[in-house]
Amino acid sequence: MRRGFFMLTMTPHWTERCEEIRAWLAALPQVFIGSDFDGTLAPLQPNANDVRLPDLTRVLLQRLAACPGVVLAFISGRGLADLRRRVDLPGVLYAGNHGLEMTAPDGTTVLAPAPASAGSAVRQVQAQLTAALAHLPGVWIEDKHITLSVHYRQADEVRHPEVELIVRDVVCSHPDLEVRPARRIWEVRPAIAWDKGSVLRRFLDESGIPSNAAAFMGDDVSDFDAFRELPDGWTFAVGTDHRSDARLHLTDPQDTADLLRWIVEQRAAS
Ligand SMILES: [Mg+2]
Repeated sequence: MRRGFFMLTMTPHWTERCEEIRAWLAALPQVFIGSDFDGTLAPLQPNANDVRLPDLTRVLLQRLAACPGVVLAFISGRGLADLRRRVDLPGVLYAGNHGLEMTAPDGTTVLAPAPASAGSAVRQVQAQLTAALAHLPGVWIEDKHITLSVHYRQADEVRHPEVELIVRDVVCSHPDLEVRPARRIWEVRPAIAWDKGSVLRRFLDESGIPSNAAAFMGDDVSDFDAFRELPDGWTFAVGTDHRSDARLHLTDPQDTADLLRWIVEQRAAS
């Protein structure tokens, strides 16, 4: 949970704890490094379609994936196929749609258990929202197959409450679905207890790696679910709002790249 506005406790920057992280990286035969994509590895853009992984970050991730004993995972709100296309690294784990679709150890795609009726409900909601939101410029609906993202970043700020009202009003008549917030996005998804934390836990179990040998970085409320799975691991919240459940913070995706470069150097030296 996000702490209260008046709480002044700030999450320290990662460079304040690098001696501890250095010792952690040197001591473990296997480490799990998980990351969100948008706003964490790749800078946000006005249009989510324009978000790209910086070339340097891709090189660093390739080097990290090649380090012995490093398991890399990407867990995003994007659809799985979209995420894979944008990260484009072989031999790593992927989860899309906030973990509702994920890669299995054999590379095949697995879906989280959702009610069979959720699929047709998503299609109905898509049609209803397309009509109900048509008068709002800058609002668009991304079809992620098993979920929908209603993007409103480009809409006039004064219309944002209206977007929420419409989305909630449409979705509340479909008991198999729920609405969850993301950054300037309303996510419409099956109402099941499965989130980024659930898929992180599954990846750790399948990799045989304990939570104290894992790290996760993310910039959004949905990433807090993953942070909660790693009470004894390293968690990094990206952004200027340092009040999160993460142990440490990163300033922006460039800072994430700096951390990745530093981890590659430490891991290569150990
Ligand atoms: Mg993000």
